[in-house]
Order: sequence, then C-alpha cells, then structure tokens
Amino acid sequence: TQTHTELSRRLVAGADDAPAILAPDRPMLTHGELRALIAATAKQLHTLGIGRGDRVAIVLPNGPEMATAFIAVAATAPTAPLNPAYRADELDFYLTDIGPKAILVAENETGPAVTVAERLGIGVLRLIVPPDATAGGFTIDGAAVGPQAAPAMAGDDDIALLLHTSGTTSRPKLVPLSHANVAASARHIGATLGLTAGDRCLNIMPLFHIHGLIAAVLSSLASGGSIYCTPGFNALRFFLWLSDARPSWYTAVPTMHQAILARAARNAEALSAARLRFIRSSSASLPTQVMAELEATFGCPVIESYGMTEAAHQMASNRLPPGLRKPGSVGAAGGPEVAVMAPDGRLMRAGETGEIVIRGPNVTSGYEKNPDANATAFAHGWFHTGDQGVLDDDGYLRITGRLKEIINRGGEKISPLEVDEVLMDHPAVAQVVTFAMPHDKLGEEVAAAVVLREGMSASEGDIRAHAAMRLADFKVPRKVLILEEIPKGATGKLQRIGLAAKLGLRS
Ligand code: ATP
Ligand code: MG
Repeated sequence: TQTHTELSRRLVAGADDAPAILAPDRPMLTHGELRALIAATAKQLHTLGIGRGDRVAIVLPNGPEMATAFIAVAATAPTAPLNPAYRADELDFYLTDIGPKAILVAENETGPAVTVAERLGIGVLRLIVPPDATAGGFTIDGAAVGPQAAPAMAGDDDIALLLHTSGTTSRPKLVPLSHANVAASARHIGATLGLTAGDRCLNIMPLFHIHGLIAAVLSSLASGGSIYCTPGFNALRFFLWLSDARPSWYTAVPTMHQAILARAARNAEALSAARLRFIRSSSASLPTQVMAELEATFGCPVIESYGMTEAAHQMASNRLPPGLRKPGSVGAAGGPEVAVMAPDGRLMRAGETGEIVIRGPNVTSGYEKNPDANATAFAHGWFHTGDQGVLDDDGYLRITGRLKEIINRGGEKISPLEVDEVLMDHPAVAQVVTFAMPHDKLGEEVAAAVVLREGMSASEGDIRAHAAMRLADFKVPRKVLILEEIPKGATGKLQRIGLAAKLGLRS
C-alpha cells in the first residue's frame, strides 16, 4: 500500500502554488490545494464508511468538481464516473454492473440517479460546493453507508477507475483500470505532448469517458500544468472559453473539431488572439481534410492519437514537430507496445494489414464478469483491440477500420473509412459517415449519410457521381442521405453499427 502523499504527488505533481484547476467565473485551485482536497476527501470517506475497495459511482455534471472528485475519491476507492444524462433504465444497467457501495451526486440532485440508487440499496452521498469555493473545491455530505472504515489508501494494483467502453460495436463492457494503468497512461500522454507546468488544457470532453479523464485532466496535472474545466462541449461558447482560459492546447473527438470549424469564420477575433501550441484529436478517425483545415485555422500542429478505454486511453500518437507527424496515421506507439497480428497469432511485418494488438503497463488486466470477451481479447499474449490496421517502416500505424464495422458486400470487404475519406473531398461535404445497410441478396450494401457545408448544396446524385470517379463501383454508396445532423453516441462518436436501422434504411 502506498501512502496518500505518494499517490497524490504522482497524479498531482505541480508546485504548491501552481494553478491546477480553473473554471469560468471561479477562483483557481492550486496543486497544493488539490493535494489537500485529496487528503480531506479520504478522511471524509472513511468517516462515511467507505474504505479501500468499496466502489463509488459518481454522477455529476461536467465541470471542475467532476475533475477533482474522481481524483480524490479514487485515492481511496474504485471510482465509476457515469454519464449524467442517463435515464433510469440505463442507470439500472450500469449501477447493477458496477456494484457500488455509494453514489456521489450533486447537492441538489433529484433525478433518477438518486431513485435508482435507493432502489438498489446504494448509499447516496452528496457533493457540497460552498458558495465561495475555488474551482473544484467541495466537501461530502450524507448518512454513513457503513461503520467507519480504517484509513487504508489504494495501492498500485487496486482499481482506480471503472469505466464501460463506449458501446460503439456492442453492449458496453466494464473495464477496471488500476492506479498503475492510469498513472502510466497519464505519463505517456504528457511525454508524447511534451507537457510542462506552463501548459493549460481547455477541457471540452465529457469526464465520464477515458479521453477527458486521462488525456485532458490527469496528463495535465501529472505534468504540473493546469486544466480549464468547462460545463461540456458547446461550439458557440468554445470561442469564449478560448479567450477566457488562454489555453495552450485542447483535445477532442473529430465531430467536435468539425463543429468548431463550422463556427470559426464568425469568431475571427477570438481565433487571432488564441495561442495554441497544438491541438490533439483522438477516439475516432480524423479525416485528413479536417486536420488540414484545423491547422490552417488555428496556425498550430494537429496531433492525432489512438486511444481506447481498455488501454487507459492512449496507445499511439503522432509527435509534435520536430518529431514526426503523418496525416492519416494515428502515430507511433505512445504508451504500450503496438503490433499487428494475423488471425493465427503470427505478428505481421510492416505493410501487412491485420488486427492491432497491444501490451504494456497501461492495459487493463481484463473485463469484469466477461470470460468470453476476455478469452478472445487476450489470445496469444496480447490484448486485441478489434481494430484493423497496418504499420509502416517508421512504426507509424494507419487504422483501416474496426473489424466489426467493415462492410461485407456479398464477400467484398469494404472499409467505411476509405469511403468517408473520398466523400469528404467533395467541396460541399462537411461531415460524413459510411455504414452497412442490410441487403437481401448481398447481406450488406454501402450507404452514407452526409452533412453539407453551410450555404453549399449538392444532391445525392452529385455525391455518388463524385464517389464513382474515385472508387471502384462496389464501394460507391448505393444510398447517400443528406442530413442536418448525424446521430452520435454520448461521447460524440459516430456509431456506424445500427445506423441503418436508426435511419430506417434497407435495400
Ligand atoms: P465498444 O468497445 O463498446 O464498441 P468503443 O470501442 O467505441 O466502444 P472506446 O474505448 O471509447 O469505446 O473507443 C476505442 C475505439 O475508438 C478504438 O478501438 C478505435 O476503434 C477508435 N479510435 C480511437 N482513436 C482512434 C483514431 N485516432 N482513429 C480511428 N479510430 C480511433
Ligand atoms: Mg472498443
């Protein structure tokens, strides 16, 4: 067991008076104050009957308290941050799967988180934010959920975070991540981005997902830097926060970058004052056109990285100049070892396409209560990502798709990413998602949905004709829907699987 000071020193590494957490209209919290908050929270949890190993779910709106609460609670107990938008049925599934002793909610929370927790016999603790609190400052209130526990701190192999995968390809799986997993990932991200005490991240990512928790919050704090915590992504307010927070970087999923770009022209002033050292993109494939437009708009390099819940986020990353950056690639190993494997377990050479596999200190030791998923995921001594890709001679990885999303058109395998990239090159197209549509004879057929750029027009026929110039006939989408908005998952990711049904498509 480590001591409390060791744990908080590792995750919150800045000088006592260095800024740690900032938020709109709130005084900042320093690294020293955050370490004190971690110690105070541990004491309060022990008094309330939460000891080492007792699980705690957190349902809080995005913001500075979500950032500080997960760090402070995890120092004692395995912590499960949940999406505050969940309805009763969803909470029932997640809370039952996680099995927490208590749930931490906002002081005034009256929603289903409380009623479902009470029905499941889970203790309800409330997070109190004093009126004059600094950004992220809080205390915990509630009836004890058990006898006072002995104040033992979590150890390296204890679970820090319990997170479900995004559920993009199937039912979300429960991933335990240890303190060692989480710390290794935060350190690797800090190293690939060259983060220092002088850096400030503007956080627009949800803090119930691994991307925001590790890449934005923990990598910043572990590098001694600061994080500006917003209430959540909003393309309009993004430019206000940019001026207010003066960040040196931000990280987001591609659909957020696209929404920001759509607003950029109307925010020229905020843009010209912005001083970003770089922009990071992860969690889904970044079209090269979006990358180029971001770089032209912000005048800084865009670093695309590859992450997943099971790896405590980062697996590979491009490097900042003078390091190597390759558009269309997710970069070289940036945490665990990365390799490409054939179905028989043979490791493949550069240039050969296969399943991306990883192993290393930030990889989970296995899904909870899911022996079937573990048997396939850990075959041949590596963790199988379910993504398909190819390494080049420099060790840079290109993702060619998710194995489950590859469209199987009567035996012809089509990567939706390849079709996306071609459709994105049409001048009127701002966003695109290509997906499988059920087909009576072929099994699956290619379909796409697009959002057009403001003030531009194009018909389904125009877009299909554009695709036909660049793609073999069997890859050309049989249907192209023109939409105002493409439906997304809770973390802003496009969900190709099930999209045809959601849009009522079949041929
Ligand atoms: P589920 O596992 O439940 O289907 P999910 O895989 O979307 O959901 P996450 O752990 O949030 O859940 O996402 C990890 C996945 O996101 C990766 O396996 C990969 O498919 C995709 N991904 C992450 N970064 C990138 C990237 N830069 N380019 C392409 N795909 C990416
Ligand atoms: Mg996954």
